[in-house]
Amino acid sequence: MFDKILIANRGEIALRINRACKEMGISTVAVHSTADADAMHVRLADESVCIGPPPAAQSYLNIPAIISACEITGAQAIHPGYGFLSENARFAEIIKEHGITFIGPEPEHIRLMGDKIAAKQAVQAVGIPTVPGSDGAVGSDEDALRTAEAIGYPVLIKATAGGGGRGMKVAQKPADLRLALTTARAEAKSAFGNDAVYMEKYLQQPRHIEVQVLADAAGHVVHLGERDCSLQRRHQKVWEEAGSPALNAEQRSEIGSVVTTALEKLGYLGAGTIEFLFEEGRFYFIEMNTRLQVEHPVSEAITGIDVVREQIRIASGAPLEITQKDITFAGHAIECRINAENPFTFQPSPGLITQFHTPGGLGVRFDSAIYSGYRIPPYYDSLAGKLIVHGKTRNECLMRLRRALDELVVGGIETTIPLFQHLVRENDILNGEYNIHWLEHYLAKKGS
Ligand code: ADP
Repeated sequence: MFDKILIANRGEIALRINRACKEMGISTVAVHSTADADAMHVRLADESVCIGPPPAAQSYLNIPAIISACEITGAQAIHPGYGFLSENARFAEIIKEHGITFIGPEPEHIRLMGDKIAAKQAVQAVGIPTVPGSDGAVGSDEDALRTAEAIGYPVLIKATAGGGGRGMKVAQKPADLRLALTTARAEAKSAFGNDAVYMEKYLQQPRHIEVQVLADAAGHVVHLGERDCSLQRRHQKVWEEAGSPALNAEQRSEIGSVVTTALEKLGYLGAGTIEFLFEEGRFYFIEMNTRLQVEHPVSEAITGIDVVREQIRIASGAPLEITQKDITFAGHAIECRINAENPFTFQPSPGLITQFHTPGGLGVRFDSAIYSGYRIPPYYDSLAGKLIVHGKTRNECLMRLRRALDELVVGGIETTIPLFQHLVRENDILNGEYNIHWLEHYLAKKGS
């Protein structure tokens, strides 16, 4: 096992990783930009190293500075968290060349899943169902028209290097297709430096359901059930649940076993998530995330398994301590992303936190790096905290969430708390009847 781990991240996830390390008796090194000198992740780690000025490109993405910080402090492994360098295959390779362990999958799997066309072909080959679409990248506009005709409108144009919902365009009919292709290519080029796009059938009423897995070096793979992340705005998740209100136990174990068998065949290592769209009882792969996800705590709540601890154990070469039959799903969990944003326009609202009170009580967890007197800097993402609530049933969980949201106070900045206070009182949410478009429609109605 490692003696010392460097956490190459900031905010709530840096604290989350620090907690797992402490509980395992591992010392920690925080890295930070000059904007984060007073940040909680710096205060709670055993050591800290400043790696550059505020812009992430010069600090949290600064590979030479992070490697130097490892060498200076003697850290043996790096946990990248999510975002920043977590899905950078080259980073994983470079640190390996320096004799440092990357707490994550092998670089080849990061690279494979980062190319959405290659990922889709690879998972299809190991038995995972995918959305009908183009066979690889779309060629000429004429080829695209023929493919769209064959799969049927509406179709979705997606960037092969895509992420964060960028470079996606819907074409409802043949007349829209050329424009959708041109704008998707231009957006993909400017966001990812790669204008290759592919085409999928646009599913009209799907839910977003993803399966969390853990795989060790001996080839054992387990799944921790699914999360329903259908409540999204601009393809960004806002609220996540485990399990999905739309799945029964049989569907859960069926998709879980399809995923674990596929990842065994791929020889995957570490934690990962396979994301699907789910419509009319059928699953369609959309992508695989080869890292820890923001919403992992809802899976932890219903399984009692510490995902970060398992990531660290796997990276150290230890076998999984659990088999699939040891994993049981108890109750229901919901996470709300408390962002420093206007709750209805989602305009960022960085600034000074003048008041802060976290909710408590049975089944309530609040993962955050903010405190009263802390100034949220404008340079990074707007996630200020995650409220995670667990209950014996979905209904108990919703009632607990309602009271926990009423206890939570974040003063001085705007946050998404009022949005969630509305959502926990909406019939469709209470009944679990929502798809990936529900929140956009709800917000449009509110705005009118
Ligand atoms: P990104 O990597 O940019 O987040 P994803 O492929 O994960 O892209 O898709 C993000 C979201 O876009 C999904 O959660 C879903 O809401 C929507 N989406 C993606 N593919 C389709 C599709 N074929 N039909 C309908 N919606 C889709």
